[in-house]
Amino acid sequence: MCIFCSIINNEIPSYKLYEDDDVLAFLDISQTTFGHTVVIPKKHVTNILECDDETYEKLMKVIKQLATKIYQKTNAKGINILHNANEAAGQTVMHMHYHIIPRYDENDKLNIEFLENPDKNIEKAYELLK
Ligand code: AMP
Ligand code: ZN
Repeated sequence: MCIFCSIINNEIPSYKLYEDDDVLAFLDISQTTFGHTVVIPKKHVTNILECDDETYEKLMKVIKQLATKIYQKTNAKGINILHNANEAAGQTVMHMHYHIIPRYDENDKLNIEFLENPDKNIEKAYELLK
């Protein structure tokens, strides 16, 4: 069974921070930064690419509330909300989840950098996606 479904079913322990009928949040075992949390729907869906709107809306509401609470309680200087969809994007647990990652300083164990693509073709992207 999926590891996050096992957490929902209390078959493996977790540090739960929030729970309602549809959504669960618990501390990420890696604690990439202090307070790093994952928020998941109780319904098993793989990721945003196959999630129904109702589940997604419930999840987003909790993420917003928890992000604010975690930011305030940890005295973080900022916060990243991260969702990895599919292996190509770094998803390792195939049960939809959003990371809430409080940020403190340059020693944080998270490095997100948007580098400029030397081979970019923004006109082509625009024609395809508009
Ligand atoms: P991702 O790479 O986006 O799929 O993230 C999966 C996350 O789940 C990682 O940050 C892991 O540290 C976390 N994780 C895996 N197993 C557990 C667990 N038993 N309890 C809490 N977090 C977990
Ligand atoms: Zn699952």
